[in-house]
Amino acid sequence: MDSVLGIDIGGNNFRIGIFDREGRRLDLSEGRTDSSGGREWMLNEIHKRSQSLIGKAGRQVQACGISFGGPVNYERQEVSSMHVSGWRGFDLARWVKEKLQLDCLVDNDANAGALGEFRYGAGRGTHSILYVTLSTGIGGGVVCEDKLLHGRDSLAGELGHVPMSVAGAPCSCGGRGCLETLCSGTAIGLRGRGLAKNNPELMARTIELSSGDPQAITAETIFRAAAEGDKGALFIVREATGWLARGLLAAIRILNPDRIILGGGVALAGKHLLDPLHEHLEALNAPTLKYSTQIAVAELGNYSPLYGAAALGWELA
Ligand SMILES: [Zn+2]
Repeated sequence: MDSVLGIDIGGNNFRIGIFDREGRRLDLSEGRTDSSGGREWMLNEIHKRSQSLIGKAGRQVQACGISFGGPVNYERQEVSSMHVSGWRGFDLARWVKEKLQLDCLVDNDANAGALGEFRYGAGRGTHSILYVTLSTGIGGGVVCEDKLLHGRDSLAGELGHVPMSVAGAPCSCGGRGCLETLCSGTAIGLRGRGLAKNNPELMARTIELSSGDPQAITAETIFRAAAEGDKGALFIVREATGWLARGLLAAIRILNPDRIILGGGVALAGKHLLDPLHEHLEALNAPTLKYSTQIAVAELGNYSPLYGAAALGWELA
């Protein structure tokens, strides 16, 4: 019986698991990322915990896959990070080979999440998917005809940074008016706080659900209020899903995937996200270009990238 090691290095959490060929998680070690500790702290945790998992696996661990929460040049297998110090240009696969004696494949978390859902989650049984994470930002990964699409610069699937609005807000990428500035969790929360300032009456229920503090409004409290049918919250959700529908429709027009899978914290809203999204898509759709791409919520939740890391490991094993 053999297995692989999957590692998910994220800005907030990290997860390490042992997986069998069917994608069953046999063991797991996870914790909060201490970003002040930088690269050295993270590598130390991974080394210690991986050795322990491998030691008690009771079966051969054949290879390792890593999901990295930042840009990865897939061709060169090189990671970098905007937020945590020390990662730029770091050869993570070589480090794994030296420290854990395992061959290793590294990809960014959106691609790993796409692969995880494709192999073991909501994408099973399809040949092509677009996976979109709606959280602090918006990330995306594409599986096209059973293969992850990387593109010339490892930038394929960056749906969050498609410019949608000329007069839009500045984006984390340096651009302006990107999809991410309009319907990420951060953008939805910001819109709620802005509206609460100008129109507290309209946002009364959302404010109530945010411990009475208009500045504590988040995408989560907005979706909770929307689920109760609150008018102000529904207005914001309607606006955000309108932008998301436009972004997804562009992706459908280019890729026409079997399924679009929505992950990340915002997707936890489930039907309260999907229903207005479908309404917008229906209104935008042209009858002559009728598509059958389905839209689903991720099945593996926060663990999609970890399962994808295991799938990367299996590509080497
Ligand atoms: Zn951007």
